[in-house]
Amino acid sequence: MEEKSKTKALKESLFLPTKTGISAVKEEEIAKADEFCEGYKQFLDNSPVEREAVRYSREIAEANGFVPFEQDKRYNAGDKIYYINRDKAIALAVIGKNGTKNGVRFSIAHIDSPRVDLKPNPLYEDTSLAFFKTHYYGGLKKYQWTVMPLALHGTVVKLDGSKVDVNVGSDENEPCFCITDLLPHLAREQAAKPLSKAIEGENLNVLIGSRPLSTDDEESDLVKLNVMKILNDKYGITEGDFLSAELCFVPAQKSRDVGFDRGLIGGYGHDDKVCAYPALMAAIDSEAPDCTCITYLTDKEETGSDGNTGMQSDFLRYFVYDLAKSEGEEGYRVLSKSKCLSADVNAAFDPIYASAYEPKNSSYINKGVIISKYTGHGGKYDTSDASAEYMGEIRSMLEKNEIIWQVGELGKVDIGGGGTIAKYVANMNVDVVDLGVPVLSMHAPFELISKLDVYEAYRAFYAFFNNM
Ligand code: MN
Ligand code: MN
Repeated sequence: MEEKSKTKALKESLFLPTKTGISAVKEEEIAKADEFCEGYKQFLDNSPVEREAVRYSREIAEANGFVPFEQDKRYNAGDKIYYINRDKAIALAVIGKNGTKNGVRFSIAHIDSPRVDLKPNPLYEDTSLAFFKTHYYGGLKKYQWTVMPLALHGTVVKLDGSKVDVNVGSDENEPCFCITDLLPHLAREQAAKPLSKAIEGENLNVLIGSRPLSTDDEESDLVKLNVMKILNDKYGITEGDFLSAELCFVPAQKSRDVGFDRGLIGGYGHDDKVCAYPALMAAIDSEAPDCTCITYLTDKEETGSDGNTGMQSDFLRYFVYDLAKSEGEEGYRVLSKSKCLSADVNAAFDPIYASAYEPKNSSYINKGVIISKYTGHGGKYDTSDASAEYMGEIRSMLEKNEIIWQVGELGKVDIGGGGTIAKYVANMNVDVVDLGVPVLSMHAPFELISKLDVYEAYRAFYAFFNNM
């Protein structure tokens, strides 16, 4: 008996704790998570595409005292500013007591999600049905996007330079749109194809109309003409305007609680609004941290972070340089002393597809935020591998603030892989590691996350800004 308890005590002191995650959390903490997630669901439902996420974030920021950034202005501790990049990315800064002198703290998440974009010349009619031709955006399993209600979101720029926002189908009183699929009775050939080939990208055409403009008319393309007329009446656009547009089909459904116990949220675009919202709220709730804190919500992560609104753009670097310059600091020195949490999701272990995961190094639903030391693929290609020293700092910060956390990799070593913005931040000579929320069915039109994990992400970003 004596021996056994000694062994047990030794295990407790040397091994990782066995009681982790939600089983070690007080009821009050779970109630707070549920409350926090009501705001998250609003954010998610209002932000299917990046422009909408920027708009909604700006509204929250302005309601909480953030004002537009002015170049060359000298800011004081506690000042709150935001800076928008081409309507598709937004930086929110809370000026610290020490300004940028000792480096800044970044929490960076992306607000674009996989979806189905319109081609530049999308509209056509075939056998008296009108369609939009599309080009999918990001890594998606094409079959998941057929036979479900879709909504159209985006922006059109007309020839005179004026802009019009489009948002049809997310309200259940509006019409929605749909990509058709072959009935099983005639799908013997299709069913024999591998999953990646069964639905071709070129066949992701979205059905958008079925009635001709007039019934007793010899002209061709009357269904197409009817659609174009409806669009012209509502938005004042013509067919040529599609060329200067960003229009995206996204799932029409709103987020929902999932499970009898309501512990999960199902919705479109958790990757990565589920990290963007906690990072946004951490900035909103910060008053006067020691270092200037910047939450940056960026675009284009799902297509490799390229372009002037993606993380490979110099936008954020220039913002930091501007803040540094106004305080008489050198921008590159500020970056060199800065630290970042790359706020990105990881794949939650799914027992139904257990063979894709390595259970000892996977993240789990309800076990808190997941730290990914590196992502990438194969022999750690295409990733930033956070240093032992920085992992040590982050680990201490999480423990000190009693945040529920776990570590994990994306899946088995040779089974696939993926990346985040961490490597682009690291290239700016900034210490960075991925920290985010585990997701089930990542990149599907209806992804799942745990409410507790979202709240722990908020607590982690807040502690990183205010109590490291
Ligand atoms: Mn992501
Ligand atoms: Mn993703």
